[in-house]
Amino acid sequence: MVTRNTQQQKLVEQVFLSLNHPSAQEVYKKVQELYPTIGRATVYRVLNRLCQKGQVMQINREENCVYFDKNNFDHPHAYCIKCGKIRDICFDNTFSKCSSSLNKNLNGFTPLGVDFKIVGICSDCQNK
Ligand SMILES: [Zn+2]
Ligand SMILES: [Zn+2]
Repeated sequence: MVTRNTQQQKLVEQVFLSLNHPSAQEVYKKVQELYPTIGRATVYRVLNRLCQKGQVMQINREENCVYFDKNNFDHPHAYCIKCGKIRDICFDNTFSKCSSSLNKNLNGFTPLGVDFKIVGICSDCQNK
């Protein structure tokens, strides 16, 4: 049986997948445009559940600003300082490459992931 909750969850997931590294607020705004009956709490709940299941990664860009990433593998991000867009960078084995060189300097600290970001100006903004 498909419950109303399951349906709403599917819709939120679809909207989320159509966006590129959105914040929860952005997902909510888009959901509101398409399905005005879905509330903010539902949107946030679905996003949290996806994170808990490991299907979605959270990236912290600044304090109090969390973005959701459908690519839940280790990958670096390029941030545009002008428009704020976030892009994935293809870079194989980011974590294993970094951790092998890191290990010597970590004094027993066990690394679990890397947060690698590149800051700059995207091609759209350069052409303006
Ligand atoms: Zn830009
Ligand atoms: Zn990403």
